Amino acid sequence: MTGVRPLTAEDTVLVAGGRGLVGRALLRRLAQRGVKRVLAPPRQELDLRDPVAVARWFSTHRPTVVLMAAGTVGGILANAERPAEFLRDNLAMAVAVVDAAHQHGVRRLLYLGSSCIYPRDAPQPMAEECLLTGPLEQTNEGYALAKISGIKLCQAYRRQYGCDFIAAMPTNLYGPGDNFSAEGSHVIPGMMRRFYEARERGERRLVVWGSGRVRREFLHVDDLADACLFLLDRYSGESHINVGTGVDVTIQELAEAMRELVAPGLEIEFDPSKPDGTPRKLLDCSRIHAMGWKARISLRVGLRQTYEWFQDALGKGAVRL
Ligand code: GDP
Repeated sequence: MTGVRPLTAEDTVLVAGGRGLVGRALLRRLAQRGVKRVLAPPRQELDLRDPVAVARWFSTHRPTVVLMAAGTVGGILANAERPAEFLRDNLAMAVAVVDAAHQHGVRRLLYLGSSCIYPRDAPQPMAEECLLTGPLEQTNEGYALAKISGIKLCQAYRRQYGCDFIAAMPTNLYGPGDNFSAEGSHVIPGMMRRFYEARERGERRLVVWGSGRVRREFLHVDDLADACLFLLDRYSGESHINVGTGVDVTIQELAEAMRELVAPGLEIEFDPSKPDGTPRKLLDCSRIHAMGWKARISLRVGLRQTYEWFQDALGKGAVRL
C-alpha cells in the first residue's frame, strides 16, 4: 500500500504490555526481525494508567513505534466480577499511551483490541463494519467499551492530528506464557489446567464450565504477533483490522481435543450454571486475507505446543497449581 512507512531496524519500539501473552510474542517476533531497540518496561517501572508517568517515560526514551498490547485482561468470570477495573484500567491506558505517542511524535502506533468489541448478536462471521451496530455481551461490556474507545482514539488522533495510528482486533488468543490461573484465565489455559489436575488426582470425570455449545475461534499468539508486524508494514488506514483464523469450534469440541492431549479417557460433563458468554464469535478476516496474510498455526498444533510449554513451566516453577 502506498504511503505506509514500514518498521525498520533503526526504530525504537515500545511494546506496552511486554510481559503479557501478546507482548512476549511480539518481543520474539521483533527479535526475529532484527529490531534492536525494543523497550518493554514492566508494570513496576511504568504504570501505563498514569498519564504523567507515561508522558515522562516517552520524553526520556523517545520511542518511534508503539505496539499497544497492554491491558487488564481475563476470562469470562474475571470480566463479570471486576467490570470497573476492566473498564477503568483499559480506558486509562489507552488515553495515556495514545496521547503520549502523539505528543512525542511517535511515527506509527498499533493498538490491539479484541473480538468482544462486536455486538453480542452480530451476524457471523463479524466484519469490521458491524462495530457499534447493536448491544454488547454483558459479561465483558466494560472491557469491550474500553477497547472500542481505544480504536476510536486512534481514529480521532489520525483525523485531528494526522497521526499514523492503526488498530488490530484479534480473536480469542492462546499460547505459551498465558495466564493459567484457575478462575481468572481464558478457556484454553483454564481448561488445560483443569484437565491436568484431574489426571494428576486420578479423577474419572471433569466438569467443564457452560453448556459446551457456544462457539469460539482461537488464534495462536505467534500468529497474532506475525499479523501485527505485517500490518505495520502494509497498512495505514482508519478502520481497525480483524485478525483470526476463519475457523471456530464449539467448547465441547475444544474440551474433546484437550482431553485427547492431556487426559485421555476422562469423562466430560458440562455445568450450565456457569456463564456461556456470547453464543458465537467468529471474525470475518477478508480484509487481512486480501492484503496477503493468513494464520499458519492450526489449533491442534498450537494446543500441543502450549501444553508442552505448560508442562515445562510447571517443572521450572514458573506456573504453580
Ligand atoms: P469469552 O470468549 O470472553 O467468553 O472468554 P473465555 O475464554 O473466558 O470463555 C469462553 C467459553 O469457554 C465460555 O463459554 C466459558 O463458559 C467456556 N469455558 C469452559 N471451561 C472454561 C474454563 O475453564 N475457563 C474459562 N475462562 N472458560 C471456560
